[in-house]
Amino acid sequence: MQNTNHSQSPLPPCPKCQSVHVVRNGPNAAGTPTFLCRTCGRRFVACPKTSPVSDETKGLIRRLLGERMSLRGIARVTGVSRSWLQGFVNTLYRDETPHHPGPLKKDGQAGDRGR
Ligand SMILES: [Zn+2]
Repeated sequence: MQNTNHSQSPLPPCPKCQSVHVVRNGPNAAGTPTFLCRTCGRRFVACPKTSPVSDETKGLIRRLLGERMSLRGIARVTGVSRSWLQGFVNTLYRDETPHHPGPLKKDGQAGDRGR
């Protein structure tokens, strides 16, 4: 008889390549057991504490940022971690306010003069 209801699968599939060819990789620094994908080499945890933030939430965060709400307040309202939010904001600012240092000038250095 086959029991297709695996209520307790011993090894979770790889979140990157969905391969089930994974092995236990021991606990990480936080004590969470980690797994290693034999197919793509990805190291991951079975139950990540921080689930990926949805696009909906990201959209909301952008609106709240537009209201000049504090990061602390936004993290409270949307339920994302402050560390994640800080990284997200950094990425946003990098995208939306590009700072161009300008082309590097090779001052004083003569370029290619031909011969
Ligand atoms: Zn993988």
